[in-house]
Amino acid sequence: MYPEPVRAGFYVHIPFCVRKCGYCDFNSHASTGELHAAYQEALLGDIAETGRRYPGVEVDTVFIGGGTPSLFTPAQIGAILDRLAASFALRAAEITMEANPGTVERHDFGDYRRAGVTRVSMGAQSFDAAELAMLDRIHSPEEIVAAVRAVRAGGFDNLNLDLIFALPGQSLGTWRANLAAAIALEPEHLSAYNLMFEPGTEFFHRRARGLLAEKPGEEQAEFLADTAHRLEAAGYEPYEISNFARAGRACAHNLRYWRREPVLAAGAGAHGFDGRVRWSNVRSPQEYIRRARAGESVEATREEPGREEGMLEAAMCRLRLREGLDESRFEREFGLSPGTAWPRTLRMAADRGFVERRDGALALTPAGILISQALFAEFARERA
Ligand code: SF4
Repeated sequence: MYPEPVRAGFYVHIPFCVRKCGYCDFNSHASTGELHAAYQEALLGDIAETGRRYPGVEVDTVFIGGGTPSLFTPAQIGAILDRLAASFALRAAEITMEANPGTVERHDFGDYRRAGVTRVSMGAQSFDAAELAMLDRIHSPEEIVAAVRAVRAGGFDNLNLDLIFALPGQSLGTWRANLAAAIALEPEHLSAYNLMFEPGTEFFHRRARGLLAEKPGEEQAEFLADTAHRLEAAGYEPYEISNFARAGRACAHNLRYWRREPVLAAGAGAHGFDGRVRWSNVRSPQEYIRRARAGESVEATREEPGREEGMLEAAMCRLRLREGLDESRFEREFGLSPGTAWPRTLRMAADRGFVERRDGALALTPAGILISQALFAEFARERA
């Protein structure tokens, strides 16, 4: 019933935060800690069960995301990693934990490092106090700097900072100051995403009521182009549309998603993919705990994407990467080349300078990156 990938990444979801940010559509819930112990117990059971379904799989990247995993103690994070090691062949050189400023003072980061975490991804988002308040973040710019110091003092030499741009009212000048402040902290990796107004979020409602104004697409593209230019000049390789890394510091775990490779998963609302089948768990932490205690499955959905869906996913994910969409690999997987699957879209994209061929792969040009969403929509339309 289950194919057995030889090697996979593993995602662990911790769905708790101090407060819910207005723009956030992740499965995260404001928490004062009352569910943490019960959730951890359910999570350990979920990891063990996943290990029984995929025996012998070598897990070579781990990502503990959220939510705010740094609300969990180093001992709790250590127990999660111990359970992964007991359930799989854990050979992960990269074990990332997400953390948020305003929570890091609760625990010693050296203890997370000793527990096995090798990389920290910090939700900085902005270095402007007014922007942080607008985003409902719980921290100040100074707390980001203190958090980075705490992470470095804990012995981490692999740090990512998350930033958000194209905020309502944000000028290019303010954004450049944010970027400069982030670069000054010398992280090995930077992620910069434009603000999204996802349905169901507080920001979505605020925009509908005219309280927040989304920047027009052309302005967002201008921010993105400026970001790539500045980060490249500062020595960061733009290895994915929104992700920039020092040489050798690209996020190996996230590369798995963009390459459409197996990532197993545990936790409330977590999504797993074994190379053929994908599944998701129930989102509610309370229901996740209840089911685990009752010995019921925590899965909410399970499906095997068809060939068309798989092709589109592979094209859209891999084109986000600078390495691009490997044409031979695509043909091996799906039995036809990208040029045969999307003759009209790829001809149009090549003619307009949005896509180029590099080392046997199709890759977006800088102009193509700026219109990537529209281009991906064309891929979907051509085979609809
Ligand atoms: S801290 Fe992150 S995960 Fe938590 S609510 Fe804010 S954006 Fe969402």
